[in-house]
Amino acid sequence: MEYVRNANGTSRWPSPSTGVSTWLDYWKSHKYIYSVCKCGHCGTTYDLVGAHVQKVFGGNELYITPLCRRCNQKTENFYVDTELVRVPSGL
Ligand SMILES: [Zn+2]
Repeated sequence: MEYVRNANGTSRWPSPSTGVSTWLDYWKSHKYIYSVCKCGHCGTTYDLVGAHVQKVFGGNELYITPLCRRCNQKTENFYVDTELVRVPSGL
């Protein structure tokens, strides 16, 4: 489990510059399973996005994890039961 929060100001990165078209594809290109929002007990299986998050007890590094659109709007900290894919700085 990772304790994370949604990162602010990430809309200036609408897509990665690595050849995949969305952040969810970016996450999937690193992890081969996804199908459900792993935020707490959410379990939503539709409207998933590759959400930018930061570790609550980490630095300023950005990570991608699948969240449903509702959880992507959360303003409080939350746990995700999935692997975080690091966004290289500059992407
Ligand atoms: Zn969710």
